[in-house]
Amino acid sequence: MAGMVATVVMLGPPASGKGTQAARLREGSGYEVLSTGEVLRGARAAGTELGSRAGRYMDRGELVPDELVVAAIEDALQGLGERPTVLDGFPRTVAQARALGDAPAGRGRRVDAVILIDIPDDEVVRRILMRHQGRSDDTLETARERLRAYHGQTEPLIAYYEERALLRRVDGGRAMTSVEHDIAAALTAGTHPPPARRGDGHPSGPDRYTPL
Ligand code: ADP
Repeated sequence: MAGMVATVVMLGPPASGKGTQAARLREGSGYEVLSTGEVLRGARAAGTELGSRAGRYMDRGELVPDELVVAAIEDALQGLGERPTVLDGFPRTVAQARALGDAPAGRGRRVDAVILIDIPDDEVVRRILMRHQGRSDDTLETARERLRAYHGQTEPLIAYYEERALLRRVDGGRAMTSVEHDIAAALTAGTHPPPARRGDGHPSGPDRYTPL
């Protein structure tokens, strides 16, 4: 896993393919995947207090309050130790991003790269209604609310991570394998390989990568 970045955040609207691409990174490169949606649905299925509180927001298509999500994710992250991890669905607010960075030693993570998988709103709604996963939040009404939450609360993270030079945009509207390829290229570009040595005729520096 030489040159692998340790913590990758998947950002993007609902149904943009974050979970699918996170799973591909797990299979292809051995990343651990931490999906907030799955953690919350698991807590719900297990009947925990956190799960039932979170479930009320999820069913309305609203974001679960930061303090609930942060508590759940910090525990899960701690269990993963230092293993390279893809965060699917976290952070989703600027407050969550700050909590991730500011968490007490050993619980937080320095984010190395943020992949924004971009798809237009009408495609979001179309995909949510088509996939019929049996999730209680996959209806037209909640799809619209999830989009509203994305634009209002999650989109500010684009500027937040752009300012920190961590954001890489990927067009999520194409075939899954093309998206996967772009993500792999974006992650490689982010590892800052050593600069090319003069005169060896082998471009090993950042120049060989297409800027995004
Ligand atoms: P999608 O990306 O398709 O919306 P997820 O499984 O990631 O699906 O999320 C489902 C729901 O779980 C969200 O609509 C929200 O209610 C809740 N959720 C997931 N992650 C977070 C988070 N980081 N902060 C707040 N709520 C979250």
